[in-house]
Amino acid sequence: MKLHWEPINLELRTTFRVAHGASDVRRNVLVYLDEGVGEAAAVPYYGETQEGIIAYLKSVPALGDDPFDLDGVLAKRPAGSRAARCAIDIALHDLWGRRLGQPLYRLLGLNPKNLPLTSFTIGMDAPPVMAEQARESGHPILKVKLGGEEDEARVKAIRAATSARLRVDANAGWSREQALRLIPRLAEYDLELIEQPLAVDDVEGYFWLKERLNALRVNLPIFADETAKNSHDVAKLAGAVDGVVVKTMKSEGIREALRMIHAARAHDMQVMVSCMVESSVGVTAAAHLAPLCDYADLDGPLLIKNDPYRGLRYDGAKMSLPEGAGLGLERR
Ligand code: MG
Repeated sequence: MKLHWEPINLELRTTFRVAHGASDVRRNVLVYLDEGVGEAAAVPYYGETQEGIIAYLKSVPALGDDPFDLDGVLAKRPAGSRAARCAIDIALHDLWGRRLGQPLYRLLGLNPKNLPLTSFTIGMDAPPVMAEQARESGHPILKVKLGGEEDEARVKAIRAATSARLRVDANAGWSREQALRLIPRLAEYDLELIEQPLAVDDVEGYFWLKERLNALRVNLPIFADETAKNSHDVAKLAGAVDGVVVKTMKSEGIREALRMIHAARAHDMQVMVSCMVESSVGVTAAAHLAPLCDYADLDGPLLIKNDPYRGLRYDGAKMSLPEGAGLGLERR
């Protein structure tokens, strides 16, 4: 199987701001394994760059000729760029489906009608700006990015502007004490859940926070995102969080994302499938897993102007998977 790649600069419709920083363009890489395609998202927060991803891809040895030996092929990936390792996994799954002439969801035994609705992201900004974006978007489910001083004012302004279902994401922006002070207050604004309130490495903090929120009878579900990269992390968080956020760029592909979902279920956790700033390539791959998940946050293609592929389709918050073999992608 021949590995090749193509840098792709995704232009964002509006500047994307989260607790970690802001960007107008994301420099990703499309990765091909014969006719299979995958995507590596260069997330600055994870220390990934387009150059680093390409340097990694140049270092990958021959991956063999058997696309049906998924574990065997994936084990040949050297250590290094998480995004590039993910892209190889996605391209391999696409190739697997294309060679068998079946969509990936079907190979995974999943019903494409069981996709949850997707949220739409409101980036972090001044409260009135976020409220206006929430109103203008018209989306019935919003993911609100937090992680700064004005967080309660942000949620208050948005709640006043829309009756949409609201999920908030602190992107590791709070200390334990801030989280304990803010979460009971935010719970008054009819939120569905709260993502990653604490620092990435603070696994203990999630147990600390859960115990105190339980004592206060605050039942707002807490989800781990950045802290839950793979199935091992999910097991460590059992009992401390209500759910985990699965992203192929964290788990280095579909194969480990599936293990994460099963590990979460074994610990009675809920699952949200999500994405980075990715084109239809990466996001359609994630969407093939969505029938296994409770929540979806797959608005990546809606945030960019120059999507290189057609894949997952949107009708407001409702998504539908393409029916073609593999991921079902078509070049625009
Ligand atoms: Mg998140």
